[in-house]
This record gives sequence, C-alpha cells and structure tokens, in this order.
Amino acid sequence: MKEDKEIVLANPRGFCAGVERAIDIVEKSLEKYEEPVYVRHHVVHNKRVVDSLKNKGVTFVKEIEEIPDNAIAIFSAHGVSKAVEDQANNRNFKYFDATCPLVTKVHLEVMKHAKQGRDIVLIGHKGHPEVIGTLGRHPADSSTQIVLVEDSDDIEKLELNQDAIAYVTQTTLSVDETIQLIDELREKYPKIVGPSADDICYATQNRQDAVKQLSLECDLVLVIGSTTSSNSNRLKELAEKCGTKSYLIDGINNIDPKALEGVSAVGITAGASAPEEIVQEVIDYLASYDFKKVRDLSQNKENLTFKLPKELAAL
Ligand code: SF4
Repeated sequence: MKEDKEIVLANPRGFCAGVERAIDIVEKSLEKYEEPVYVRHHVVHNKRVVDSLKNKGVTFVKEIEEIPDNAIAIFSAHGVSKAVEDQANNRNFKYFDATCPLVTKVHLEVMKHAKQGRDIVLIGHKGHPEVIGTLGRHPADSSTQIVLVEDSDDIEKLELNQDAIAYVTQTTLSVDETIQLIDELREKYPKIVGPSADDICYATQNRQDAVKQLSLECDLVLVIGSTTSSNSNRLKELAEKCGTKSYLIDGINNIDPKALEGVSAVGITAGASAPEEIVQEVIDYLASYDFKKVRDLSQNKENLTFKLPKELAAL
C-alpha cells in the first residue's frame, strides 16, 4: 500500500498580537462608525487581509492628503513618522493609530537617544514603511543624526560620534544577521548602547526558531505570506539557509505541483500577517497530492495580546 506523505506545521505561525490588534481596530471602526473608513498604507502586509477589508468597505490610501475630512482614518501596524502624525492632527478627521506597540517602543528609543545627545544607527531595510516611520521619529531639531544601515558595507562607511552613539533595529529582521551587524557596530563603536539584545519582536523570533525546526524535518517548506511582508521573506530565507528548498506563497495558486515531486514531508509556516484560513486551504490542496498525515510541531504558545484604543475596546 502506498504510504501517505506528511505535512508538518510550524508552531507558532501566522498572526501575531500586533497584526490581530491592527485588524481589530479596522473592523471595529467599520462596526462603530457610519463615516467611511480610510487606512493609510496596507494595514498589515497581506493580500488576503487587505482584499477582505476592501470588500467590507475600507479604502486604502498612500497619503494623509487622500483622506477626506470627517472620515475615520487609521495608521497601519508599521507605524508612521512624526510628520504624518502632525499632518493628521491638523486635519478634520478622527484617527486611530494601529501602530504595533513593539514598533512604538522603537520610536520611543529613537526619541530618548536623540534627547540624550546620541547619534543613532537604525538597522533595517530601506523603503520598508516601518523604517520610514522610525527614521521619521528622529526629532527634526536634534543636533544628533540617525542613519540607516542594511549591511556590513554601510557600517564601514559610518562616521558617527564615537562617544555618544546608540542603535535600534527594525522589528522583523533576521535574528542571526542582526546579531552579526550589532557585533560589527560594537567593534567599530565600543561605547555604542542599545536594547538588551535587539528590537526584533517576539513574533519574528518565535517564527524564525520554529522554521529552523521545521526545516530539519521536511524536504520542502512553504511559507505563507505576501512578498511585501518582511518577516515572511526572512522565514523563507532562513529555511533555505538551513538547507531546505522553500517558497513564499500567498495561497494555493502559487504552488507549483512540480515542486512537490519526490517530496515526502512538506513543512508549512505562515508569516505574522498571514491568516490561518490559508494554512487550511494549503493543507486541503496538498491532500490531493497524497499529503494526508498532518503533524503540528508544538513549541512555545504565544499568549500576548495588545489593548485596543478605549473607544473600540468595549465593542
Ligand atoms: S511582527 Fe512583531 S512588530 Fe510586527 S506587528 Fe507583529 S508583533 Fe508587532
């Protein structure tokens, strides 16, 4: 008899507390207010989530200027610069800030270091909305500077204050690569200060730990997440670094059946903004290719939740 092939599920996977909170803020705003709901940037980096909110009536825009007066405005989970916040405060609409509290923590670090006279190195990916927001939290009137570094070459070129310098990081980076960059910064700037490890959030760390384990047990790893999702991209890269072929997929339409040939165990994980319903769809799809045994790797359970704004919490 032909033996069923196996699906192994990473754990934890999928939605983190920051994404749950951001989606809740949008859904509860739709429920509570009659005014149209506008979200600046994709509230989280996932196509399914964004399409579903569009279907419920949300309008996504790039800039504050596109939001009409008297609407309900929402900032995405990635955070915004001080300039965007000021712009919103000068407009005649109500807004909710869905910035993940762990991103806000990094914003506060930037402001604290600038106030204490330190130059700041931000480790992150150029152009990512979180990075744009964090750079934009450096006070415009500060005598210090903030500089983005992406890799070792950028660190080599730095010319910052040897005596008063700090680092912060994007929350969704590769843990291993970031440790290496921090070590290089410490070598160049022995007096540099920063958070106890880095600012990479618990969800990014946990999903990376889980995908390492998954990669050891599977011939192929499917990472559910959109190409714009930083933490999902890092999961795919990490699986490949562990020696396992990996694909980043938005859903079953992106699975190439040829990739399943000769595979006896497929691992599935999902980035922090990818809904669990897609995991189930992928499991159902793989069943038609004889992947019928499903095993869920149990790791640390995540219990963290973040509070909603008061006006929406009671709904
Ligand atoms: S991935 Fe981390 S920082 Fe980003 S929303 Fe989730 S918990 Fe917050």
